[in-house]
Amino acid sequence: MRLIWKNLEEINKRIRKSGRIFLALDYDGTLTPIVSRPSRAVMRYPARALLSRLSNKKNISLAVISGRRLSDIEKMVKVKGIFYAGSHGFEIKGPGIKFIHPACLAARPYIRQIKSRLKHELPSVGGIILEDKGVGLSLHYRNVKKTAVDGVKKVFHNIVDGYAAGKKVRLSFGKKVLEVRPNIKWDKFSALNEISKAARKSAKAGKRHVTIYIGDDATDEDVFKKMKAPDISVYVGKKSYKSRAEFFVSNVNDVLKLIGFLEKNYG
Ligand SMILES: [Mg+2]
Repeated sequence: MRLIWKNLEEINKRIRKSGRIFLALDYDGTLTPIVSRPSRAVMRYPARALLSRLSNKKNISLAVISGRRLSDIEKMVKVKGIFYAGSHGFEIKGPGIKFIHPACLAARPYIRQIKSRLKHELPSVGGIILEDKGVGLSLHYRNVKKTAVDGVKKVFHNIVDGYAAGKKVRLSFGKKVLEVRPNIKWDKFSALNEISKAARKSAKAGKRHVTIYIGDDATDEDVFKKMKAPDISVYVGKKSYKSRAEFFVSNVNDVLKLIGFLEKNYG
């Protein structure tokens, strides 16, 4: 990974070819710092103002692609006229597109069963947050005492591994979160492609755009590993992390700085 600030010339060169940007962003850990309760990860005013301004730019299409449910991520970002994808891309909404992946309906009964078993069987330790995302479940253990984490994971696997082995659902693991999703090869990259097509259509130009994707977690690696130059992948975090992204920035402030740079030069 290369630090993006040392490669701005290269970035400019890639963008200038088409002059259009499709900027897609993860939310938690990318636009807001990770906090102990997901509901408190509210985006600060300068970030919202920046995204609002970008949403009006002719040469920039904007998307937020999150693991949160669609209605939740829309509420957290609150910028109109942009693309949103929730539940790791299973739900998409924006100019000219409204989409729920059909596999979500098929998986619903299993996910409901898993939810009710988790509710009954998880140990009564503090700090567990079971988030029902409609199309999936997330079990957050960031606030669980260290000594209790293994017990929580064990119960989780006891319940869900059978469903996963029977290909009823699939599991994924993020930062202090265990997740159950519909069993289908569909990830943030699939959503990115769908939105990219819609963005090209809604821009009417039909022209190529350079995609810039910024994210910080395991599900963002699904995107990074499939992106190719001239598209630009940016990991948020430490250089020492083995990300598949081509570039990196250190933190949320730097993400905002990078978006500001794009606005100034291409907005
Ligand atoms: Mg994230």
